[in-house]
Amino acid sequence: MKKLYTHENRIILFNIRNLLREAGIETVLRNEFAGGGIGDLPAFDTWPELWLEDDDNYERARAILHDIEHGTAGSDWYCRGCQELNHASFQLCWQCGRPMDDSDD
Ligand SMILES: [Zn+2]
Repeated sequence: MKKLYTHENRIILFNIRNLLREAGIETVLRNEFAGGGIGDLPAFDTWPELWLEDDDNYERARAILHDIEHGTAGSDWYCRGCQELNHASFQLCWQCGRPMDDSDD
């Protein structure tokens, strides 16, 4: 397996994982529950990681990541919960986890 991506915010990893799954690429989250009770490990070593199940998908997965990071599809949106700006391709707010189409009504 290849490590595809790591980020301190696991909601961002969840978003990326969902998008890759829609594209038919399965991934595995490691260190999902990192941060708390880890002891004296350096913080970076405990970031959640996204690993590819099938290394053959690596180039395609990197291309999808590139699209996500550079926002080629749709328009960015502001979370109704915390007002944070999110990538168009994200379905959950990266900061508080609220769904894009969640409503106060
Ligand atoms: Zn939010």
